Amino acid sequence: AEKIAAEVAVANGPAVDAPPGQAASEFARSKTIREQREYLPAFAVRNQLMQIIRDNAIVVVVGQTGSGKTTQLAQYLHEDGYSRYGLIGCTQPRRVAAMSVAKRVSEEMDVTLGQEVGYTIRFEDCTSDATLIKYMTAGVLLRETLTEPDLDRYSCLIMDEAHERTLDTDVLLGLLKRLVARRRDLKVIVTSATLNAERFASFFGTVPTFTIPGRTFPVDILFSKSPCPDYVDSAVKQALSIHLSHPTDAGDILVFMTGQEDIEVTCQVLADRLDQLDHGDGSVPALAILPIYSQLPADLQAKIFERATGKARKCIVATNIAETSLTVDGIMFVIDAGYCKLKVYNPRIGMDSLQVTPVSQANADQRAGRAGRTGPGTCYRLYTEQAYRNEMFPSTVPEIQRTNLANVILLLKSLGVVNLLDFDFMDAPGDETIRSAMYQLWTLGALDNLGALTSPGRQMVEYPLDPALCKMLLTAHELGCTAEVVTIVSMLSIPSVFYRPKERLAESDAAREKFYVPESDHLTLLHVYNLWRANGSRDSWCTKHFVHPKAMHKAHEVRTQLVDIMRSQRVPHRTCGTDWDVVRKCICSAYFHQAARQKGLGDYVNCRTGLPCHLHPTSALYGLGFTPDYLVYHELVMTTKEYMQCVTAVDPYWLAEMGPMFFSVKETNWGHREARLRTQREQQGMQAQLRAATGHGQAAGGL
Ligand code: ADP
Ligand code: MG
Repeated sequence: AEKIAAEVAVANGPAVDAPPGQAASEFARSKTIREQREYLPAFAVRNQLMQIIRDNAIVVVVGQTGSGKTTQLAQYLHEDGYSRYGLIGCTQPRRVAAMSVAKRVSEEMDVTLGQEVGYTIRFEDCTSDATLIKYMTAGVLLRETLTEPDLDRYSCLIMDEAHERTLDTDVLLGLLKRLVARRRDLKVIVTSATLNAERFASFFGTVPTFTIPGRTFPVDILFSKSPCPDYVDSAVKQALSIHLSHPTDAGDILVFMTGQEDIEVTCQVLADRLDQLDHGDGSVPALAILPIYSQLPADLQAKIFERATGKARKCIVATNIAETSLTVDGIMFVIDAGYCKLKVYNPRIGMDSLQVTPVSQANADQRAGRAGRTGPGTCYRLYTEQAYRNEMFPSTVPEIQRTNLANVILLLKSLGVVNLLDFDFMDAPGDETIRSAMYQLWTLGALDNLGALTSPGRQMVEYPLDPALCKMLLTAHELGCTAEVVTIVSMLSIPSVFYRPKERLAESDAAREKFYVPESDHLTLLHVYNLWRANGSRDSWCTKHFVHPKAMHKAHEVRTQLVDIMRSQRVPHRTCGTDWDVVRKCICSAYFHQAARQKGLGDYVNCRTGLPCHLHPTSALYGLGFTPDYLVYHELVMTTKEYMQCVTAVDPYWLAEMGPMFFSVKETNWGHREARLRTQREQQGMQAQLRAATGHGQAAGGL
């Protein structure tokens, strides 16, 4: 330990150290890329670190954010020759991080992105035969294990940001633990930004933990005196006050918000207030307001790393992506709203939803730490100390214990994990969550009564999509409308294609309405895509009709990839012409478990839970005032009310035909032909049956 400390001291010597308080962007500008690399804490301990990696198959590496784990480790492995034996892979929990980090590393190595250094995320492969270092999402590596269970192409795998405990990372940890026992030549490095890395080390059966000594400055933490009713408003006020009371070169501001909507509003309001204050005479110093969230186009994401024009201060408004995944140098002020969006699965009602939730104490501390990387900083928490101490969890519940496991179960089953209770999870998911996901897979026909993968289930694994969307494609194959359904699935895989600028709301809404297909938002999406293609996929067409050109190109790319997979599965490409009722039937076959029934005019209740739900104001059905008796929805979003997003009118007979486990038809009045659906009020009956069939608790198959 003494030796390590000594080396750090040398590396921190006056020659390369940025003086405390000197804005790091200043530092970045004045130093070459090589000097920047050598300034990182990881460089100071490079030799010891590489020695430990040489001596062990698995090493856990802990280091504060910004110490160089993500950008340097893969390069060190490459420089030490490991890339001669295979790819150096590095997984990231988030797509944005995979892309941005690969870009940075390609610059550090002075190579073209996609050549020696590349990245792969779902539906986007930026690697080539020349690639030696590959950044990817954990989900991508998981899918690779399907075709290549031993991952023989890789000589080293870095599981980065393991502390985030995402679903994919957790499953990968389990798979890698088995893999290392088979492949003696593989190096596995698990990195974590937090100190409770012991959990990882003991999970693998006591492996060494290497800590990169940190270099941090004190951060003043200021709590709100009283709970703040509107965190967007409070954040804007706080940012303005910092900006106006500290000279521009005192450092940049980082604001943590929950998601895209909050971020957009915050940026907008902040810009407006600055404008009002300025009176156009330049009395207020310039502020570069930069949003960052996962769905933001890549070129805009890159802006957070660039120097603002002039000497403007940067104010970055981010989701929790800036907590540990991305490190922006030069932040001196952090404003923490105290919330994040978490995917939460409720097995009782069988749905995943994104919910705005208070962050954990660990998250809050990570956020505060971002202010102390290049000099002493300040963190403004928009919540009370009371709330921090008494209302926040010490750390976030791992995703595996709170989301839908259907995809994971499908994947593990196809990897030959018969009994999920045998799988080595770091934190096992709840029985109820497993059972409920198995139940969903069973209703979709992916599992049989014994819980084993069926032939449709085996086909579903081939697609990098949710099981319900896979089911939609399989039904399309049966009903002869794959051309249409693959378009719908692709359009559902991208963020909204409709552009709604605040200053032209009425105009853009009118443009959108022209695309409406009365019975269905899904068909509306299909219609948009078809018109775009018919108009030569032109960007000018998009701009004219308030459609995002980039989103359309992305949808087209996704579609091309899905069509490739279908071809390899020998699924014929067939169109149903204009008989779009068939397409609605396919949609129904995938989403019958998310059906709603009209109770009063325009009032809907969920068929299975009886809970009220509402048409979203952007729905074609809402826009045209069309209120069918039955409909299915793609997802439920909870904002002020429970809104069904992306809905399609369905015939109740289809529900009974496609989802017989939930619905049956009762003919009540022969004279006037009317179908009334009887819904299984509780799934419990079926679940009990399934449980009996899967022999829960017994040796035979099942879980
Ligand atoms: P860690 O993974 O330990 O948190 P990283 O390897 O991500 O650390 O970051 C090391 C350094 O590289 C940081 O100082 C960060 O600012 C810098 N860096 C990372 N990505 C970029 C980028 N895209 N542009 C400029 N600098 C970057
Ligand atoms: Mg990192």
